[in-house]
Amino acid sequence: MRLDALLADAARRLAETSPTPRLDARLLARHALGVSETWLIAHGRDAIEAEQATRIEALIDRRAAGEPVAYILGAREFYARVFKVTPDTLIPRPETEHLIEAALECLANRPALCVLDIGTGTGCIAITLKLVRPEWTVTAVDLSPATLAVARENGAALGAEVAWLESDLFAALGGQRFDLIVSNPPYVASADPHLTQGDLRFEPATALASGPDGLDTLRAIVKSAPTYLEPPGWLILEHGYDQADAVGSLLRDAGFKDSFLIRDLAGQARVSGGRLDACPEA
Ligand code: GLN
Repeated sequence: MRLDALLADAARRLAETSPTPRLDARLLARHALGVSETWLIAHGRDAIEAEQATRIEALIDRRAAGEPVAYILGAREFYARVFKVTPDTLIPRPETEHLIEAALECLANRPALCVLDIGTGTGCIAITLKLVRPEWTVTAVDLSPATLAVARENGAALGAEVAWLESDLFAALGGQRFDLIVSNPPYVASADPHLTQGDLRFEPATALASGPDGLDTLRAIVKSAPTYLEPPGWLILEHGYDQADAVGSLLRDAGFKDSFLIRDLAGQARVSGGRLDACPEA
């Protein structure tokens, strides 16, 4: 069988499971054979050996059963760098890059700062900020030791010095204060049918769902953040497309000023933030 015919068959099979069947088939074939996209294009007309075809088919079978491509490959690109991902971590998503942009913009003219990333997962937010702004001191917390081990590995592989800490939100932070707190927390409503569809079925529930309206963790972060921010500190949060009003109110009620909302490329509300003013007496 020719490689291009095998890829076309695979893409047809994956069309039932995946919104991107052709891309998935090519990524999985590249992974199975250990080759580049250029190699795949150049060798499309070649006959494929039975043993190679079996290796590709094994990965296509896993994808056809719903397993996310990122978990099969063990990696996902975020902000132009490749991060290790495992079923202990949420899969980094392009919309979270808006949170990075917002953080860089809000703190554009400020030098050495202390930054905290809550619920770091793969570490993609903390590591990206540290690599873009090496003069910043970055701390990242996660509730799960298994997740934190992956984040730590990513930090080492990408050369980003981040202080990794096992903590339920702020619990292990003591009296530390930060100039910027960022988070992509769990924010899906616990009964949301999306949790039983697509990639989300395979991702850690604790990284996705957060109470009946999905706002439990966002509420907890906004409530405690002022205690851990050094004024004029920024809090920047990713949230669901329908949570912008709720998060905006939470921020205002907690005393945050200059609150803003960023929409993703699909026009969905995605990231909100605000600044904690210095107290007049301070
Ligand atoms: N953006 C993810 C989704 O809805 C959810 C991620 C999260 O809860 N932080 O697919």
